[in-house]
Amino acid sequence: MTRLKIRSNKIKCKKCGDIIESKEGWNFKKCKCGAVAVDGGHDYLRRVGAEDDYIELSDYKEIEPYEDAERVEKAIKLIKSLISNHGWMQGSIMEGSKKIKIDKNGIEALKMILAELGEEDE
Ligand SMILES: [Zn+2]
Repeated sequence: MTRLKIRSNKIKCKKCGDIIESKEGWNFKKCKCGAVAVDGGHDYLRRVGAEDDYIELSDYKEIEPYEDAERVEKAIKLIKSLISNHGWMQGSIMEGSKKIKIDKNGIEALKMILAELGEEDE
């Protein structure tokens, strides 16, 4: 199942020309003439009224759930290699090649992040 990453949730009413936007939180908004309404904030796109009565103006993209999981996995791998390299690493895990320097406190912080994620620290 795809999920939506919503940057803006808005439509324009064809009858009254009103542009209505549902902001963060489940923010229900009706147009001036009451023909259409938006809801859902940045969580989901809910429309009230006939599809022919509004123009979609939302900015969103569909994301596959695994994209998130993959990103988290990459982050965990990166954190683990930072810990095992004791501060220096030539990263090939993330895009491009980056050299990152972290100190002792940084390593402790990374260990805390792993613990938070429920990952065993190797
Ligand atoms: Zn209207």
